Amino acid sequence: MKKFCMHPDQEKCKGPIKGAHALQNNKIISLLAGSERHVYMLNTKKQPLLIPLYNGEVVPIVELSRVSANDATTETCFCDYHDNIAFAVIEKDAPDFDETSEEMKFVYAYKAFIFEYYKQRIAFDIFQSNFRDNPIAFQSPEMIGMYRMLQLKMQEFEPIKQHFDSQIIGNTFEGVVTCAIRIPEQIKFAGYAYIAPDFDVNGKRIKHTKKGIMHRIAITIFPEITQSWLLLSCLESEKHIYEKLFNQLETVSIDKLKFYLNMILPLYSENMVLSPLLWRAWDEETQMAYTYYANLHGPEAMQMGMCIGFGLKNAARDKSGKVYEQAPKINLFL
Ligand SMILES: [Zn+2]
Repeated sequence: MKKFCMHPDQEKCKGPIKGAHALQNNKIISLLAGSERHVYMLNTKKQPLLIPLYNGEVVPIVELSRVSANDATTETCFCDYHDNIAFAVIEKDAPDFDETSEEMKFVYAYKAFIFEYYKQRIAFDIFQSNFRDNPIAFQSPEMIGMYRMLQLKMQEFEPIKQHFDSQIIGNTFEGVVTCAIRIPEQIKFAGYAYIAPDFDVNGKRIKHTKKGIMHRIAITIFPEITQSWLLLSCLESEKHIYEKLFNQLETVSIDKLKFYLNMILPLYSENMVLSPLLWRAWDEETQMAYTYYANLHGPEAMQMGMCIGFGLKNAARDKSGKVYEQAPKINLFL
């Protein structure tokens, strides 16, 4: 991974670029790690397992592994100085999350976004430099398709970054809409993502792609001592796309909310952190199912996404609402 500071005020960069935590070590990760000081997550820094399929294809599987709390969700994307000042409002000495604080909501949204942006930027840069070194290998239609995808994603991310940057330079927190959902218990996992969910809580399609451009939401979910928070943010200019989903999430029963999250989150588990208590509470079959979901990419992930849409739609048809009370196979809320 290349190291660079993502903060817009580059002239003030100071100190080394260390591993900055996407999810705060002192508040979130340490709560999940407990006395073990370790959590479980997809470890992309480890060699993947290579699983041969019946048709001769070999698929790489990234396993979940025990990761030190100090290393979980770190990326080399902020200098020491900016890591300290940009996120101070939600860091170790800050009070718990306050849903009336525009600054806190803004910083959570920015954090989820910018860590994903950084990873995209790196992937794009690596692709470009590999292409320069070995142009022949990168001429296959598959590689060109991948390059176009990365290019489009950068195009989609860029205006969002510009908005965040201009607000940060001006020391303001405007133009971002956040839906904050309180979960009345301490959950045993946390995660962040910058994604475009395909379905709402009733399995209805969300039309997130306009004129070929996908609009995403920044999601952070994390525990506190007595409760937990689910935060979803988009730009004010994208509010019309996600307003309905936000309204649903604010008004559904807790069972229906958990049902939705249990269906959706395992598919976006790249940045999910599980407490050892949760991981060990799952039997081997559940652990394998979670690992399988977490490793789905491309067309297979899309197929699974469709199945989830059907599942949500069917559940919404059950007028008794009983279906939301049943524990699913992968239950994040144990
Ligand atoms: Zn910096």
